[in-house]
Amino acid sequence: MTDLAAFAREKGVKYFMISFTDLFGGQRAKLVPVQAIADMAEEGAGFAGFATWLDMTPAHPDMLAVPDPDTVIQLPWKPDVAWVAANPVMEGAEVAQAPRNVLRKLVAEATEAGYRVKTGVEAEFFLLTPEGTEISDPADTAEKPCYDQQAVMRRYDVIAEICDYMLDLGWGPYQNDHEDANGQFEMNWDFDDALVTADRHSFFKFMVKSVAEKHGLRATFMPKPIAGLTGNGCHAHISVWTPDGATNAFADDTMELGLSEKGRNFLGGIMAHATAMAAITNPTVNSYKRINAPRTTSGATWAPNTVTWTGNNRTHMVRVPGPGRFELRLPDGAANPYLLQAAIIAAGLSGLQTQADPGKRHDIDMYAEGHTVTDAPKLPLNLLDAIRALDADATFKDALGPEFAASYIKMKHQEWDSFVSHFSEWEREHTLDI
Ligand code: ADP
Ligand code: MG
Ligand code: MG
Ligand code: MG
Ligand code: MG
Repeated sequence: MTDLAAFAREKGVKYFMISFTDLFGGQRAKLVPVQAIADMAEEGAGFAGFATWLDMTPAHPDMLAVPDPDTVIQLPWKPDVAWVAANPVMEGAEVAQAPRNVLRKLVAEATEAGYRVKTGVEAEFFLLTPEGTEISDPADTAEKPCYDQQAVMRRYDVIAEICDYMLDLGWGPYQNDHEDANGQFEMNWDFDDALVTADRHSFFKFMVKSVAEKHGLRATFMPKPIAGLTGNGCHAHISVWTPDGATNAFADDTMELGLSEKGRNFLGGIMAHATAMAAITNPTVNSYKRINAPRTTSGATWAPNTVTWTGNNRTHMVRVPGPGRFELRLPDGAANPYLLQAAIIAAGLSGLQTQADPGKRHDIDMYAEGHTVTDAPKLPLNLLDAIRALDADATFKDALGPEFAASYIKMKHQEWDSFVSHFSEWEREHTLDI
């Protein structure tokens, strides 16, 4: 285990950023001078929970965020500061609804059952002007902008800076590209244990936003920041390994698509809980403008509408791109990095426990022929439907943790109520002359 004070001495760090993630994915931190880190490393940094999205009241006692020293990262763009992920604790007990705690509990349950879940995420983002209203590169106008060589080079300074940092951090980045929307990019690094991926995903968002700001731009992971263009997905690739990490338990050459019986069961769990899971993988009002969307200007949304799976075909909710893993294409850029992994493990473990069958595979183009599939559930059409689907799925709520589920559903209902109480231009346009 890393000793934070020693780490600071060795690296010349002056401040630690003790960081936790709330239920809405907000990253909250205190900047603690190295001189004070010894106590904070043990006790944690104090926060008023009510001031964040954690379903607390102003009367709650202080919440302490206890750093996990193994996660420490010296900020590559600001080496005076080191970020460290923390686990919220209150009066000696872990805060059950805090996202990193929810995930740690599920990872522990998986370990107990003999499974080691490994995942990779593809956190797409846009580079916008600082106001956030339009893409930053006025020349990035191609109808099919994916992999645009000229456009990615106009953002080389931002992309290469981030990729260089990931190389230095040892994440194993292996490719960067211009994505399917004007102004959109994707950077990929190697998969790892679910908690490691969640911490990296969380840090990646912080890093991309920070480096973009340094270059006078604004990065967004918002699911659909520009109407009519492809949205920000956050696909997750999933496999389950033996506890020593040596053998991929999802790989079996003798099975359909090279996916083992365990892989099929885990997938069965994902299929069974997908509509409920959407409340976590697609957690905002805006999320539902990415899934179930009309065709984008590039020709396809690349996002699913229905709970279906397939082989190497990007029009379904789940794709099996090759043996020994599958890709969940449902999550978007608003997904909380910790809750995303927690939802995958909760659904997957329940599938393993019940030996769930993922059902029939569909090999059609879902965008063109989706109407021919009549036996697959539709994904929720809006956040309220998704929250209700989550609330109706007792098994999944229980697997995630009842305290977490109750808090999350309550907070998300409040968010939905805030949204519907907002008077919109649409109403005036459609109702004024009625
Ligand atoms: P695509 O765009 O084709 O969906 P990417 O290359 O952009 O795929 O992203 C693939 C992600 O899947 C990466 O994070 C990669 O490390 C991860 N990955 C590859 N193999 C596995 C595996 N066996 N288990 C989990 N994740 C994997
Ligand atoms: Mg104060
Ligand atoms: Mg990709
Ligand atoms: Mg992509
Ligand atoms: Mg993908």
